[in-house]
Amino acid sequence: MKNIYFERAIFLSWYCSKGDCKFCYMSTQKDKIQNPKLAKRRKETILAEAVISKMCGWREEFLSGGFDSYEIEELVDITKKIYEITGRKQWLNIGDLKKEVIKKFMQYIEGVSGAVECVNFKLRDEICPSKPLKPIFNMYKASKELGLKNSITIIIGLGETLEDFNELKNIIEEYDIDRVTFYALNPHEGTIFKVGPRTSYYVKWIKELRKTFPKMDIVAGSWVDRLEEIHELIEAGADHITKFPSIRLFGTKYAKQIEFEVKKTGNNFMSNMTTYPKENPKKILDKTSFDNELKGKILEKVNMYLKKMKSNEKNN
Ligand code: SF4
Repeated sequence: MKNIYFERAIFLSWYCSKGDCKFCYMSTQKDKIQNPKLAKRRKETILAEAVISKMCGWREEFLSGGFDSYEIEELVDITKKIYEITGRKQWLNIGDLKKEVIKKFMQYIEGVSGAVECVNFKLRDEICPSKPLKPIFNMYKASKELGLKNSITIIIGLGETLEDFNELKNIIEEYDIDRVTFYALNPHEGTIFKVGPRTSYYVKWIKELRKTFPKMDIVAGSWVDRLEEIHELIEAGADHITKFPSIRLFGTKYAKQIEFEVKKTGNNFMSNMTTYPKENPKKILDKTSFDNELKGKILEKVNMYLKKMKSNEKNN
C-alpha cells in the first residue's frame, strides 16, 4: 500500500515567450497577450494557492510558466515564499535554466523539470518548433552538478507510438531523471488536436516505465472527462496523480470520483478533494516571515477560494 497524493501545478503567469507548441493552450493565447508583464498572476493569488494546497494535503507538482514574464529575482522570491508556506522544496518548470540561474533557487527547490513533451523527435520538431531539446538536456546536466534532481514531462497522444519508449529510456538513463510526469493529451480548442489517447494506450506507457525503472517517481495526469481511468493509471504504476482543477471543482462529483478511484486501488489517498478543510490559514501564514500587508492580501484570496470550495460542497 502506498501514499498517493494529488499534485497541483502552480502557474505563475499566462504568458509563454515560445507560445507555439501545437498542443498548448498558451499557443492559442499568445497573440492576445501584448504585454507579458500583465499576464503575470498576482503574487498573493499564487501564494494563496499554496496555502490551500497545504490545507488540503495537495502537493505542488511544480511551479510552472512565468518565463520571460518575471525577473529571475522575483521568481526566486515566489519560490522561497511557497517553500515557506508548504515546508516542501519545489520543482521548477520554468524553461531551460542555466546553471547560474538554478543556483539562485538552490535552497528552495528539489529539482528542475524539463518540458520534453514528446520522445518521437521528428514529431517533436514539428509540434514544439521553438523548444529545442539541447538546452533542456544542458539544464539537466547543470542540475545534477548542483546535486539537484531532474524531472521530465511527457504528453501521451501527440502521435508517438510505444516504439518511441526507448528514446525516453535513453533520456532517463543519460540525464539521471528522478521523476516522470505523464499527461494524456487534453485537446484544446483552437489547436490541431481533437482527441486524447485511449486509456489502454496511455496505461501501456506507465506500465512500461514502471517495469523498466521500478524506483522511478511517476506522476500521471488525467482530466475531468476521463477520471474513471485513474485507478488504472495507479495500478499501472503511477505514484501520484495530477491535472485537475481542484479548487474550482472541489467537493463536486468529479472530485468525489477521484477519491473513489484511488480508494479502488487499495492505496492511501493523502489529499482531500471533497471535505471543507478545517485548518486555519492564518496559522499557516503566521509561521512565515511575510509582512502583515502580504499576509492580509493572501488571506483575502484564500478566503475567496474557500468560499468557492464551501459553496461547491454545499451544492453537491
Ligand atoms: S513552451 Fe510550454 S507553455 Fe510555451 S507554448 Fe510550449 S508547451 Fe505551451
